[in-house]
Amino acid sequence: MNRRIFIKSTALSSIAYGLGRSHPSTKSHILTLSFDDGFKKSFYRIADFFEEQGLSACFNVIASGHFPDFQKVGAWILPELMGNFEDWNALKSRGHEVMPHSWKHLNLADQPLEKAKELILKCLEYFQENLVGYRAEEAVFNFPFNASTPALEEFTLSKVMAIRASEICDNDSRKNNVFRQGCRSHGPDNIDGWVENQVESFLAIEGGWLILNLHGLDDEGWGPVSSAYMKDLLRRLVTIESVELVPTGVVLSRSSGP
Ligand SMILES: [Zn+2]
Repeated sequence: MNRRIFIKSTALSSIAYGLGRSHPSTKSHILTLSFDDGFKKSFYRIADFFEEQGLSACFNVIASGHFPDFQKVGAWILPELMGNFEDWNALKSRGHEVMPHSWKHLNLADQPLEKAKELILKCLEYFQENLVGYRAEEAVFNFPFNASTPALEEFTLSKVMAIRASEICDNDSRKNNVFRQGCRSHGPDNIDGWVENQVESFLAIEGGWLILNLHGLDDEGWGPVSSAYMKDLLRRLVTIESVELVPTGVVLSRSSGP
């Protein structure tokens, strides 16, 4: 499944100009391993694996996953597995990216428009108040199930730098979107082999930016990867001269530089 990232040009250029963060990559293959939902045990381990290789991980977390009334989502997003904002602040302070992945992981495209907007705002406000150093103009809102509507995308893009959503939302008015090799996910069972194939195919082409939308490790989350495989994959990737492994926000914040 291919996914797209849309980006708002105004916020971006303010970052490019204002903060001087726009420095293009010298590598031909930019790869983002993006981990969704907020599994406490997995995310700390993933952070360790990335740090062992001198890398920053990319995490997208559900804002209310740690609330006592948080309801499980499907068979995979279980309240007892979720971390809280102490965890997310700890990971962010270690240099990892933490981005919003909705208030409570409802399919927002199925909600009445005003209700969906309310849920998006609630999520973004919670991030603003609870994630240290959160800046809306640098944020990527990751739609649950990557499900959205054009109206919701337009609304969300007025609040954050970029959104991760489904291809169905592409239209001519979005002239400033950034689309590279896609944003792909797979599940529900272990996806070590799928990730390996994706990476292999990506390395065989000329280059670009590929996002693999992952979840947890081992027995956590939809479409998990095994710890041993992830550790080994990172170890191998850092030795490949043409590859850069970076979080989504980092890539986006520099991709529209002058
Ligand atoms: Zn999710």
